[in-house]
Amino acid sequence: METRILGTDDRRITEAGEILASGGLVAFPTETVYGLGADAYNADAAARIYLAKGRPSDNPLIVHISEISEIDALAEDISDTARELISAFMPGPFTIILKKNRNIPDAVTAGMDTVAIRCPAHPVARRLIKASGVPVAAPSANLSGKPSPTTAAHVIADMTGRIDAIIDGGACDVGVESTIVSCAGEHPVLLRPGGVTFDEICEIAPDAILDKNVLNSIGEGEQPLCPGMKYKHYSPDAEVTVVEGGLLAVKAKIDELLYENRDRVCGVLTMSDNAYDSAILLHGGDSNREYAKNLFSSLREFDRLGAEVVFAEFEARDGYALAVRNRLYKAAAQKVIRV
Ligand code: AMP
Ligand code: MG
Repeated sequence: METRILGTDDRRITEAGEILASGGLVAFPTETVYGLGADAYNADAAARIYLAKGRPSDNPLIVHISEISEIDALAEDISDTARELISAFMPGPFTIILKKNRNIPDAVTAGMDTVAIRCPAHPVARRLIKASGVPVAAPSANLSGKPSPTTAAHVIADMTGRIDAIIDGGACDVGVESTIVSCAGEHPVLLRPGGVTFDEICEIAPDAILDKNVLNSIGEGEQPLCPGMKYKHYSPDAEVTVVEGGLLAVKAKIDELLYENRDRVCGVLTMSDNAYDSAILLHGGDSNREYAKNLFSSLREFDRLGAEVVFAEFEARDGYALAVRNRLYKAAAQKVIRV
């Protein structure tokens, strides 16, 4: 299949909307990461997303809307707390899980009786969804298991020949996927940390809890509330180790690790001005927010540069620490050294 690369002028957005409305697949920018969209009312189109990504069929998709008012057409039993969270954080990097109604096919929700809904803030995403005239089911636009794409170039690398079109809208601002909160049970549960922090959620919903799987790996046979958590994620070709703590101690430990790995091509993802000899250096950013924004593109860049091992400096500094740890620990398959 030929994959067209489209700009963001009105004519192209209208064309991309028509592709979605007729059952095709379009990748598009959002403020979090690039999404791979299909008509959420069309089960065959949704099935094509799983095929294009190589995504396990039991991992449900997030339904994207262009206006908050569209939620009532997709979900039912919406609690007062859920409505408060919606008005506080939508449009934005926030996904809410609610009891689904009959309009959403099982292919989108992987047979679950709940649906994940997000209204992105990115103007291109909003214009595209509006142009399609339907809610748009969209996971991240990467091959399953790879780091999520934060530029059109990342999507082109993973999806060329697999989807109908890619809209190039520049780099994503948040850089990690949306915060997911389930409001389908007794208490709101944060299932995945992202651009909206846990503290911000608790200001609106003080009884919110953090799912235990946010920072841990899933045990054998365990069925997490968020099916995506049990899969291998964000895995670059390089073997990643996180070295976490005060940045002086982190520097000493990474120097030791670089010496032990002196026969291999090493990379270091920094959060400081620390210099390292004989390693490929990429700067993640000084704040956790900036580090989140650059994380996935850095992991892809290390692969492109041929790094075999990557050591990632990390120190928790702000509300984005949870979102970074959640992605970084998975990228490192939980290999974390605390100093
Ligand atoms: P992605 O769009 O690639 O960020 O993946 C969407 C994430 O949302 C996956 O981890 C899914 O497991 C999760 N998700 C989607 N729908 C639901 C749902 N109804 N209940 C729980 N988790 C969901
Ligand atoms: Mg994903």
